[in-house]
Amino acid sequence: MGKPINILIIYTGGTIGMVRHYKSGVLKAFDFRKVVEHIPELGQLDCRIHSISFKNPVDSSEMNPTHWIAIATLIEKYYGQYDGFVVLHGSDTMSYTASALSFMLENLGKPVIFTGSQLPIGDLRTDAKENLITSIQLASLQKNGKPVIQEVGLYFEYKLYRANRTTKLNAEHFQAFGSMNYPAIAESGVHLKVNHDFLFRRAKGKKFKVHKALDTNVAILKIFPGMSKNLLKGILSIPELKALILETYGAGNAPTNSWLLEMLQDAKAKGLHIVNVTQCPGGSVIMGRYKTSAALKEMKIIDGGDITTEAAITKLMYLLGSKTSSKTFKTIFETPLRGEMS
Ligand code: ASP
Repeated sequence: MGKPINILIIYTGGTIGMVRHYKSGVLKAFDFRKVVEHIPELGQLDCRIHSISFKNPVDSSEMNPTHWIAIATLIEKYYGQYDGFVVLHGSDTMSYTASALSFMLENLGKPVIFTGSQLPIGDLRTDAKENLITSIQLASLQKNGKPVIQEVGLYFEYKLYRANRTTKLNAEHFQAFGSMNYPAIAESGVHLKVNHDFLFRRAKGKKFKVHKALDTNVAILKIFPGMSKNLLKGILSIPELKALILETYGAGNAPTNSWLLEMLQDAKAKGLHIVNVTQCPGGSVIMGRYKTSAALKEMKIIDGGDITTEAAITKLMYLLGSKTSSKTFKTIFETPLRGEMS
């Protein structure tokens, strides 16, 4: 018999561990120990499971970088003791947290699987049990004594995705997440099928390192037809603003009016990092393909390629927190660090 696999579940909150108020029907987080009580099947898994809970579990709308640091700190503390980690989290901001963690946990050599559910674990038709049980199984997978998954993943409704490629796409369906620009890294059917060719691997010999400095002096501006000069002016005059994501149309296109281009150029000259990310859930920015993005390219706006907004904003916080120099910022942002862009 091989050595037992140890899995740590970290419960942060979200629907998966919520109960309905018997009268109002309002969902509220409850004591995590009851989550385990609800799944006696966990006892049948071929691994040792321990769990730890946030003192005050939260709806994921309340999540912020302080919570991300708390999760990273727990993983750092228990990294040596456990073979894999399963993070239970509300689905609303799961892609943000999981993307942030992918940058914070550099040279990760073990699985960190985020999951949650659309219905509470106690509901008859819940999706929580399958999501949790399969996440634990995925976190336990080993080959030649090494974890099969060595990255931050997000498991929901039969699919394991690279977390920093995901977006919450549906507030109703059990299949709540999509990864439009990268295939699922594992699928659960009759068998658990891992897509080995798509797994992320750290560079050989690199040591696990946790980064906890995040800089939140960032903003996202989703452009829209009719966007006013005053809106852009307001955003660009935010004190301390260091980086801006411009969510553009299609393949990275934006209006060509001179006030817009001049204001962006001016902000850039003053040191603001501006990243072009498409508002489309799938596909990539290709600056210069259309006239409507040629000026952005010429201005040397950072090319977000096929990155999601969730990964882009957390990558900015990470790079700014790591004091990345202005000179190399564009090159480093445009380089895939954790498989977040193609
Ligand atoms: N509002 C919940 C949350 O994100 C929804 C969920 O858990 O799926 O915490």
